[in-house]
Amino acid sequence: MDPRNEAHIETLLQHLGEDQLPYGAVAPPLVQTSTFAFQCLDQFDAAMKDYESEACLYTRWNNPTTRLAEMKIAAVEGSEACLLTGSGMAAISQAIMSVVKAGDHVVVVDGVYGPTYQFITQYLQRFNITSTVVDGRCKEAVADALRPETSLIYLESPTSGMFRLQDVPAITAMARSRGISTIMDNTYGAGLLQSGIALGVDLVCHSVTKYFAGHSDVVAGAICGSKERIRTLHDWEGALFGGIIAPFNAWLILRGLRTLKLRLDATEVRARAVHAFLKDRPEVAEVFYCGADDFAQRELFEQQFKGTGGLISFLPKVQDRAKLNAFLQSLKIYRMGVSWGGHESLAVHYPACCMDMPEPKSVIRLYCGLEDPSDLIADLEQAMVQLR
Ligand code: PLP
Repeated sequence: MDPRNEAHIETLLQHLGEDQLPYGAVAPPLVQTSTFAFQCLDQFDAAMKDYESEACLYTRWNNPTTRLAEMKIAAVEGSEACLLTGSGMAAISQAIMSVVKAGDHVVVVDGVYGPTYQFITQYLQRFNITSTVVDGRCKEAVADALRPETSLIYLESPTSGMFRLQDVPAITAMARSRGISTIMDNTYGAGLLQSGIALGVDLVCHSVTKYFAGHSDVVAGAICGSKERIRTLHDWEGALFGGIIAPFNAWLILRGLRTLKLRLDATEVRARAVHAFLKDRPEVAEVFYCGADDFAQRELFEQQFKGTGGLISFLPKVQDRAKLNAFLQSLKIYRMGVSWGGHESLAVHYPACCMDMPEPKSVIRLYCGLEDPSDLIADLEQAMVQLR
């Protein structure tokens, strides 16, 4: 018996697809080439016809370094196949374009990542594709929004500012019974904390920029799904839009993936410590953290997730811009910046605006990175005076 066949994901991320590296190398080669040369026309024709054929053709079509990273991300998400793209937004926009056609209707949950919202509610109008935004916490609201021409339900569970969840299995079952496709942004869940595929989603998108790459030095995206859906996506949106990932970035992702589980566990330890600190602070009106005992959708979170990673948000009592600015400026370890999932802690002002809120509120989103938890708390503590 080969123990690798039954191996856990931590083991697969070290060994999958790496049995026969040239020269006995233990790190995969970076195949930084635009094109590949052939010995004969039959081999060339096979490579042209099928992007999965043994020989690679051209890096917009396939590349060995990219293939290996795709194989590992598919293992992480639990999908048959994966397509890497040049950014998370390239993954999201291509996945959506692979599903919709002129005249269709899309249901999208409130609070999704801003550019995704813009893409669905504004850009798609060019193709006469309409959309309805619904409160994703309520599966009945999703069902009520469906129309005969609805071809897509777009999910992001949880949303990445206020952490609002959807009942993903219930929504995907309903969609499937009506022949509607589902796409979910699973960047928060990073495959290991939550598998969108296991919850019935057709196409799962990731901003690989975040936890998968993990070191804040790569922008990339991934789409995970069945072999059939990913093949079609590859041959159409992938090859025609050409939003590919550079082999060097795929190589960096391979390196990042090796420690994915360790980093997710470590960031959760830090987020839990920060939550324990924030929850009783007099400057804080509300904390949003999926791992909290009093998290509003705790039961649903426990059904769908194995962990939280490092994201946590809080609503400061003071909403004054100058004080918020002073708080962010006086942080010494948390850097002020968007994104998350890397080694370093980040803090960002987030104008939270949901359907049920009469006006936007200034939320501070913290990404707790790999620094020592006590240093992160000391940093927040010294900056809190600015929020009085
Ligand atoms: N989805 C979520 C939840 C994000 O936070 C982001 C980026 O911040 C994206 C998608 C887009 O990813 P990228 O920046 O890699 O295009």
